[in-house]
Parts: sequence; structure tokens; C-alpha cells
Amino acid sequence: MYLVSLIKEKSEKLMTYDENNIFAKILKGEIPCKKIYEDKYIFSFHDINPQKKIHALVIPKGKYIDLDDFCINASANEMVGLFKGINIVAEMLGVSLKNGDGYRALSNIGKNGGQEVPHLHFHIFGGEKIGKMVE
Ligand code: AMP
Repeated sequence: MYLVSLIKEKSEKLMTYDENNIFAKILKGEIPCKKIYEDKYIFSFHDINPQKKIHALVIPKGKYIDLDDFCINASANEMVGLFKGINIVAEMLGVSLKNGDGYRALSNIGKNGGQEVPHLHFHIFGGEKIGKMVE
């Protein structure tokens, strides 16, 4: 418990969620997007600059900057909601192993991870071979 509260304290000091980031604006309906799916916990839409035949994004509705922030601060229900959401969207896109040939789910974290938008998101790449994991 002590360790958890220490980590939490540290994360609160280091991170401030930017209410005006582009995905926050999409969630508020201030910017249009090509919506795929929405439920209580997540929102999903097509990436504006697709890197593969299928390139979707899945984001939590909660205000989390990245996966670290989410793991430290999200509720158990939000965590289940996000991961179930990725699976739901993959199936909707026809790339899950239930109805397709697989996909890659990927989340960039921070500067070295190459994260551009400071609201946690998972990329879903599919529809073709995704290729090397890291270039
Ligand atoms: P990352 O580098 O992991 O932060 O990825 C951010 C992703 O958001 C990139 O793949 C962008 O193409 C995508 N993106 C940025 N703005 C929009 C937008 N308005 N609608 C959909 N996708 C966007």
C-alpha cells in the first residue's frame, strides 16, 4: 500500500492531463472523427493518417495521459473495459482471430515511446502483415 501511494504521489506530481489534447476534443465532440464504437469505458475511431490497411485507435473515456498513468490511477472496471474494448473493436474490424487473421495492438508511452497525443490510446493495426515489431 505504501509503495502504491508513493507511486501515485509521484505520478500526480509528474503528470498533468491536457484537457485540450486532440483526443479530449474528439471525446467532447468538438472535433469530428470516423467513429467505430463507443461504450461506457471506451471510444474508438479510425486513425486520421493510417499506417496500415486497417488502423484504428481505442481510447479510454477517462482522462489518462498514457499507460503508466492508467495502470496507476484507473479503476479495475476501467481496466477491464479498455481491454475488452480492444477485443470488441478488433472483432468489429474483422481482424480478431475469431473472424480474421490477427492484428497488432500497440501503445506508445512518452517521449522515447514516440507518443504524440497525451491521452492514452491503443493503435490497432490489421488487414495485412504488420511487419517488423521495431524499426
Ligand atoms: P501516437 O504517436 O502513439 O501518440 O499516435 C497518435 C496518433 O493519432 C497518430 O497515429 C495520428 O495519426 C493520430 N491522430 C492525430 N490526430 C487525429 C485525429 N484528429 N483523428 C484521428 N487520429 C488522429
